[in-house]
Amino acid sequence: MERSLNNTQTGLDDIRENYLKIRELADKAAADAGRSDKVRIMAVTKTVAPEKVNFAVGLGIDLLGENRVQEFLDKRDKYAPAEVHFIGGLQTNKVKYIIDKVSLIHSVDSMRLAEEIDRRAAQHGIVMDILTEINIGEEESKGGVAADRALELCAEISKLQNVRLRGLMSIPPPGCTEESFARMQELFEMLKAQENRENAHIDTLSMGMSGDFETAIKFGATIIRIGSGLFGYRKYL
Ligand SMILES: *Cc1c(COP(=O)(O)O)cnc(C)c1O
Repeated sequence: MERSLNNTQTGLDDIRENYLKIRELADKAAADAGRSDKVRIMAVTKTVAPEKVNFAVGLGIDLLGENRVQEFLDKRDKYAPAEVHFIGGLQTNKVKYIIDKVSLIHSVDSMRLAEEIDRRAAQHGIVMDILTEINIGEEESKGGVAADRALELCAEISKLQNVRLRGLMSIPPPGCTEESFARMQELFEMLKAQENRENAHIDTLSMGMSGDFETAIKFGATIIRIGSGLFGYRKYL
Protein backbone atom coordinates (compact mmCIF):
# COMPACT_ATOMS: atom_id res chain seq x y z
CA MET A 1 0.00 0.00 0.00
CA GLU A 2 1.47 3.34 -1.01
CA ARG A 3 0.80 5.05 2.25
CA SER A 4 3.14 7.88 1.40
CA LEU A 5 0.93 9.02 -1.44
CA ASN A 6 -2.26 8.95 0.48
CA ASN A 7 -1.92 12.10 2.50
CA THR A 8 -1.32 14.42 -0.42
CA GLN A 9 -4.95 15.42 -0.43
CA THR A 10 -5.07 16.63 3.15
CA GLY A 11 -4.85 20.38 2.91
CA LEU A 12 -3.33 22.79 5.39
CA ASP A 13 -6.79 23.95 6.44
CA ASP A 14 -7.64 20.36 7.37
CA ILE A 15 -4.49 20.09 9.45
CA ARG A 16 -5.34 23.30 11.31
CA GLU A 17 -8.89 22.14 11.92
CA ASN A 18 -7.73 18.69 13.05
CA TYR A 19 -5.20 20.18 15.42
CA LEU A 20 -7.66 22.56 17.05
CA LYS A 21 -10.14 19.72 17.51
CA ILE A 22 -7.57 17.36 19.00
CA ARG A 23 -6.27 20.10 21.35
CA GLU A 24 -9.83 20.81 22.48
CA LEU A 25 -10.67 17.12 23.03
CA ALA A 26 -7.37 16.51 24.80
CA ASP A 27 -7.90 19.46 27.14
CA LYS A 28 -11.42 18.29 27.86
CA ALA A 29 -10.28 14.73 28.58
CA ALA A 30 -7.64 16.07 30.97
CA ALA A 31 -10.15 18.31 32.73
CA ASP A 32 -12.64 15.45 33.01
CA ALA A 33 -9.92 13.34 34.62
CA GLY A 34 -9.24 16.12 37.10
CA ARG A 35 -5.80 16.78 35.70
CA SER A 36 -4.25 20.22 35.74
CA ASP A 37 -1.06 19.31 33.89
CA LYS A 38 -0.83 19.90 30.17
CA VAL A 39 -0.83 16.87 27.90
CA ARG A 40 1.73 17.20 25.10
CA ILE A 41 0.58 16.53 21.57
CA MET A 42 3.21 14.90 19.38
CA ALA A 43 2.86 15.07 15.61
CA VAL A 44 3.78 11.67 14.16
CA THR A 45 5.42 12.46 10.84
CA LYS A 46 5.72 9.14 9.02
CA THR A 47 4.93 9.51 5.32
CA VAL A 48 4.09 13.21 5.80
CA ALA A 49 5.83 15.81 3.64
CA PRO A 50 8.10 18.24 5.55
CA GLU A 51 5.99 21.25 4.45
CA LYS A 52 3.00 19.78 6.24
CA VAL A 53 5.05 18.90 9.28
CA ASN A 54 6.31 22.47 9.39
CA PHE A 55 2.80 23.81 9.07
CA ALA A 56 1.87 21.77 12.16
CA VAL A 57 4.87 23.22 13.98
CA GLY A 58 3.64 26.64 13.00
CA LEU A 59 0.32 25.87 14.67
CA GLY A 60 2.11 25.38 17.96
CA ILE A 61 3.04 21.69 17.95
CA ASP A 62 6.58 21.60 19.27
CA LEU A 63 7.16 17.85 19.33
CA LEU A 64 7.68 15.49 16.38
CA GLY A 65 7.67 11.69 16.49
CA GLU A 66 9.81 9.71 14.05
CA ASN A 67 9.30 6.02 13.23
CA ARG A 68 11.82 5.23 10.57
CA VAL A 69 15.51 6.01 10.72
CA GLN A 70 16.08 6.50 7.00
CA GLU A 71 12.96 8.59 6.46
CA PHE A 72 13.95 10.78 9.40
CA LEU A 73 17.49 11.29 8.10
CA ASP A 74 16.11 12.21 4.68
CA LYS A 75 13.63 14.75 6.06
CA ARG A 76 15.23 16.28 9.13
CA ASP A 77 17.13 19.04 7.35
CA LYS A 78 13.86 20.37 6.00
CA TYR A 79 12.12 20.54 9.38
CA ALA A 80 11.42 23.75 11.25
CA PRO A 81 12.95 23.78 14.75
CA ALA A 82 11.07 21.39 17.04
CA GLU A 83 11.88 18.74 19.58
CA VAL A 84 12.18 15.29 17.98
CA HIS A 85 11.60 11.91 19.62
CA PHE A 86 12.18 8.49 18.10
CA ILE A 87 9.10 6.27 18.52
CA GLY A 88 9.54 3.41 16.05
CA GLY A 89 11.06 -0.02 16.37
CA LEU A 90 14.81 0.48 16.61
CA GLN A 91 17.47 -2.01 15.58
CA THR A 92 20.68 -1.82 17.59
CA ASN A 93 22.74 -1.20 14.46
CA LYS A 94 20.71 1.97 13.73
CA VAL A 95 21.19 3.62 17.11
CA LYS A 96 24.32 5.38 15.93
CA TYR A 97 22.41 7.31 13.26
CA ILE A 98 19.93 8.93 15.64
CA ILE A 99 21.70 9.13 18.99
CA ASP A 100 22.66 12.80 18.61
CA LYS A 101 19.54 13.85 16.67
CA VAL A 102 16.64 13.06 19.01
CA SER A 103 15.99 13.96 22.64
CA LEU A 104 14.00 10.91 23.75
CA ILE A 105 13.75 7.32 22.48
CA HIS A 106 10.32 5.84 23.27
CA SER A 107 10.84 2.29 22.03
CA VAL A 108 13.40 0.61 24.27
CA ASP A 109 12.31 -2.96 24.92
CA SER A 110 15.47 -4.92 25.62
CA MET A 111 18.64 -4.62 27.65
CA ARG A 112 20.62 -5.16 24.48
CA LEU A 113 19.12 -2.06 22.90
CA ALA A 114 19.49 -0.03 26.10
CA GLU A 115 23.17 -1.00 26.32
CA GLU A 116 23.81 0.06 22.73
CA ILE A 117 22.13 3.42 23.40
CA ASP A 118 24.25 3.76 26.53
CA ARG A 119 27.43 3.00 24.59
CA ARG A 120 26.67 5.43 21.78
CA ALA A 121 25.55 8.15 24.20
CA ALA A 122 28.85 7.79 26.07
CA GLN A 123 30.74 8.27 22.80
CA HIS A 124 28.91 11.56 22.30
CA GLY A 125 29.32 12.63 25.91
CA ILE A 126 25.57 12.79 26.47
CA VAL A 127 22.96 11.10 28.63
CA MET A 128 20.09 9.83 26.47
CA ASP A 129 16.53 9.97 27.80
CA ILE A 130 14.52 6.81 27.09
CA LEU A 131 11.20 5.15 27.77
CA THR A 132 10.60 1.43 28.20
CA GLU A 133 8.05 0.18 25.67
CA ILE A 134 5.44 -2.21 27.01
CA ASN A 135 3.60 -4.70 24.80
CA ILE A 136 0.40 -4.15 26.72
CA GLY A 137 -1.79 -5.97 24.19
CA GLU A 138 0.47 -9.03 24.36
CA GLU A 139 0.62 -9.08 20.57
CA GLU A 140 3.15 -11.58 19.34
CA SER A 141 4.47 -9.65 16.36
CA LYS A 142 4.79 -6.33 18.19
CA GLY A 143 7.65 -4.66 19.97
CA GLY A 144 7.70 -4.02 23.69
CA VAL A 145 8.44 -5.98 26.81
CA ALA A 146 5.70 -7.99 28.54
CA ALA A 147 3.96 -6.06 31.31
CA ASP A 148 5.01 -8.51 33.98
CA ARG A 149 8.67 -8.12 33.02
CA ALA A 150 8.60 -4.35 32.63
CA LEU A 151 9.71 -3.22 36.07
CA GLU A 152 12.56 -5.71 36.07
CA LEU A 153 13.83 -4.33 32.76
CA CYS A 154 13.41 -0.75 34.04
CA ALA A 155 15.53 -1.59 37.08
CA GLU A 156 18.28 -3.02 34.87
CA ILE A 157 18.17 -0.05 32.52
CA SER A 158 18.47 2.38 35.40
CA LYS A 159 21.90 1.00 36.22
CA LEU A 160 23.32 2.34 32.96
CA GLN A 161 25.25 5.59 33.26
CA ASN A 162 24.53 7.22 29.92
CA VAL A 163 20.81 6.64 29.67
CA ARG A 164 18.16 8.14 31.88
CA LEU A 165 14.83 6.37 32.21
CA ARG A 166 11.94 8.83 31.96
CA GLY A 167 8.95 6.47 31.94
CA LEU A 168 6.89 4.13 29.79
CA MET A 169 5.41 3.93 26.32
CA SER A 170 2.89 1.61 24.73
CA ILE A 171 0.89 1.06 21.56
CA PRO A 172 -2.31 -0.60 22.72
CA PRO A 173 -3.98 -2.57 19.91
CA PRO A 174 -6.96 -0.87 18.21
CA GLY A 175 -10.15 -1.46 20.09
CA CYS A 176 -8.44 -2.65 23.26
CA THR A 177 -10.28 -2.17 26.52
CA GLU A 178 -9.67 0.44 29.20
CA GLU A 179 -8.02 -2.29 31.26
CA SER A 180 -4.86 -2.07 29.17
CA PHE A 181 -4.62 1.68 29.76
CA ALA A 182 -5.31 1.19 33.46
CA ARG A 183 -2.54 -1.41 33.62
CA MET A 184 -0.12 1.03 32.00
CA GLN A 185 -1.06 3.69 34.52
CA GLU A 186 -0.55 1.22 37.35
CA LEU A 187 2.92 0.26 36.08
CA PHE A 188 3.80 3.94 35.66
CA GLU A 189 2.77 4.73 39.23
CA MET A 190 4.75 1.74 40.53
CA LEU A 191 7.80 2.90 38.61
CA LYS A 192 7.44 6.40 40.02
CA ALA A 193 7.13 5.05 43.55
CA GLN A 194 10.40 3.16 43.11
CA GLU A 195 12.21 6.17 41.82
CA ASN A 196 15.15 6.18 44.11
CA ARG A 197 17.64 5.43 41.42
CA GLU A 198 20.30 7.72 40.17
CA ASN A 199 19.57 7.40 36.48
CA ALA A 200 15.81 7.67 36.44
CA HIS A 201 13.49 10.61 36.46
CA ILE A 202 10.02 9.23 35.90
CA ASP A 203 7.65 11.80 34.45
CA THR A 204 6.58 10.57 31.01
CA LEU A 205 3.79 8.19 30.02
CA SER A 206 3.59 8.00 26.23
CA MET A 207 0.34 6.42 25.08
CA GLY A 208 -2.69 7.35 23.04
CA MET A 209 -2.97 7.74 19.27
CA SER A 210 -5.60 9.19 16.97
CA GLY A 211 -8.20 6.57 17.86
CA ASP A 212 -7.74 6.37 21.61
CA PHE A 213 -6.04 9.49 22.96
CA GLU A 214 -8.94 10.54 25.16
CA THR A 215 -8.89 7.18 26.95
CA ALA A 216 -5.12 7.42 27.26
CA ILE A 217 -5.40 10.86 28.87
CA LYS A 218 -7.98 9.55 31.29
CA PHE A 219 -5.35 7.05 32.43
CA GLY A 220 -2.53 9.52 32.81
CA ALA A 221 -0.83 9.84 29.41
CA THR A 222 1.54 12.82 29.36
CA ILE A 223 2.36 12.58 25.64
CA ILE A 224 -0.18 11.54 23.01
CA ARG A 225 1.17 10.56 19.59
CA ILE A 226 -1.05 11.71 16.75
CA GLY A 227 -0.55 10.85 13.09
CA SER A 228 -3.61 10.19 10.97
CA GLY A 229 -5.92 12.33 13.09
CA LEU A 230 -3.75 15.33 12.32
CA PHE A 231 -2.43 14.72 8.82
CA GLY A 232 -5.38 12.75 7.59
CA TYR A 233 -3.81 9.81 5.85
CA ARG A 234 -6.18 7.38 7.47
CA LYS A 235 -9.05 8.73 5.36
CA TYR A 236 -7.39 7.60 2.15
CA LEU A 237 -6.28 4.09 3.06
C1 LIG B 1 1.85 5.79 13.48
C2 LIG B 1 2.11 5.84 14.93
C3 LIG B 1 1.36 6.65 15.77
C4 LIG B 1 0.20 7.48 15.27
O1 LIG B 1 -0.88 6.67 14.96
P1 LIG B 1 -2.26 7.31 14.42
O2 LIG B 1 -3.26 6.28 14.74
O3 LIG B 1 -2.05 7.54 12.99
O4 LIG B 1 -2.46 8.56 15.19
C5 LIG B 1 1.67 6.67 17.11
N1 LIG B 1 2.69 5.94 17.62
C6 LIG B 1 3.44 5.14 16.85
C7 LIG B 1 4.55 4.36 17.46
C8 LIG B 1 3.17 5.06 15.48
O5 LIG B 1 3.92 4.26 14.71
